[in-house]
Amino acid sequence: MGYTKQDVIRMVQEEDVEFIRLQFTDIFGTFKNIAITASQLERALDNKCMFDGSSIEGFVRIEESDMYLHPDLDTFVIFPWRPQQGKVARLICDIYRQDGTIFEGDPRYVLKRVVKEAEEMGYQFDVGPECEFFLYHTDDNGQPTTITHEKAGYFDLGPVDLGENARRDMVLTLETMGFEIESSHHEMAPAQHEIDFRYDDALKTADNIMTFKLTVKTIAKRHGLHATFMPKPKTGINGSGMHINMSLSRDGKNIFADPDDEVGLSREAYYFIGGLMKHIRCMTAITNPLVNSYKRLVPGFEAPVYVAWSAHNRSPLIRIPSIRTEGTRIELRCPDPSSNPYLVLAVCLAAGLDGIKNQIMPPAKVERNIFEMTDAERAELGIATLPENLLDAIEAMESDDFICQVLGKHITDNYCRAKRSEWAEYSRNVTEWELEQYLYRI
Ligand code: GLU
Ligand code: MG
Ligand code: MG
Repeated sequence: MGYTKQDVIRMVQEEDVEFIRLQFTDIFGTFKNIAITASQLERALDNKCMFDGSSIEGFVRIEESDMYLHPDLDTFVIFPWRPQQGKVARLICDIYRQDGTIFEGDPRYVLKRVVKEAEEMGYQFDVGPECEFFLYHTDDNGQPTTITHEKAGYFDLGPVDLGENARRDMVLTLETMGFEIESSHHEMAPAQHEIDFRYDDALKTADNIMTFKLTVKTIAKRHGLHATFMPKPKTGINGSGMHINMSLSRDGKNIFADPDDEVGLSREAYYFIGGLMKHIRCMTAITNPLVNSYKRLVPGFEAPVYVAWSAHNRSPLIRIPSIRTEGTRIELRCPDPSSNPYLVLAVCLAAGLDGIKNQIMPPAKVERNIFEMTDAERAELGIATLPENLLDAIEAMESDDFICQVLGKHITDNYCRAKRSEWAEYSRNVTEWELEQYLYRI
């Protein structure tokens, strides 16, 4: 049961909402918004609010720049951290062109399109993410640092865990906003945390991830801390992942479960894994979008490197968490929280559906620790590696017509152009590492 326009108008009046943020996400996963006052609400609900799309990176050229925001009424929520008189609420919007056609550069639209395809096949796609992040100190100018006084590790508690008050506040704030928080804990690295919220359908989950990141950053700031979703802020310790737990259901029944199978998986589950494994190297530019993302995907830090799946072992790219029947799900471990969740879920679902449609059987599962195998052993088992850097990932993506079609020409072109230039800029940069290695001896 969704909200009607009248519901939104009533909530705005009753709750004394003064500002409404109209939000959307650009193709690189950055949350954007314009604020309107309550007096403009009806205009916004009639889809008449517009913005200049040419100022948003990767959106449109200057000559076609007027874009219209169509609010999704179900995303109405009040920001609990803003003043309680003259409150601030938000609506997440879809983006349309001036001529009333949908804007194909809107990542939310890309996800909606794949979700619709799944629905036409009779499936509902549910996703539960596991977002990790670091809480660091800011300097005297309020700028973020990578400094922490904390030395806590996995599942540690206060007083060693210095982030517990901030984390508690984040959890309570998210709950006020309608999130069902399942658990939260201190992660492996000092100052690293994870908060897990309940799975939902893919669109809701992608919206939730965007809201989650905004909330975590906002509450961290209130505690004088900087929250970062950067995948690998420090060399030599764990990076931050955003594992994605996926399941398909039909008529409310999980179709990944089959109690008669050796590991409890249905044909569809195997095919879904097969589709993911077929396309994963070409999706990595989406699931791991930064130069920095590839510093996380290295051996030794619980992040995946090799393309393999397992029913038990935690090291591979794809893992089947031990819960079965209604909770049966496929966990993809490469995505990191700097990615655009709409595009990540779109390519994951599309790849999985491709597996089902074309009955792609995955290679045999690998229960041994892949990191302990020799190159020759891995080659014998046909275990590929994920792209080693952003350039490899972009080249792989461009070579996969299927993934490019899922993203659409507009996003593929703009995304690849921007990512190639990010790589070029990085490659031209002389780093601290080079100076340390070469300056004294060359
Ligand atoms: N931080 C690890 C990663 O980079 C994951 C740790 C875990 O299994 O929760 O993916
Ligand atoms: Mg974790
Ligand atoms: Mg996990």
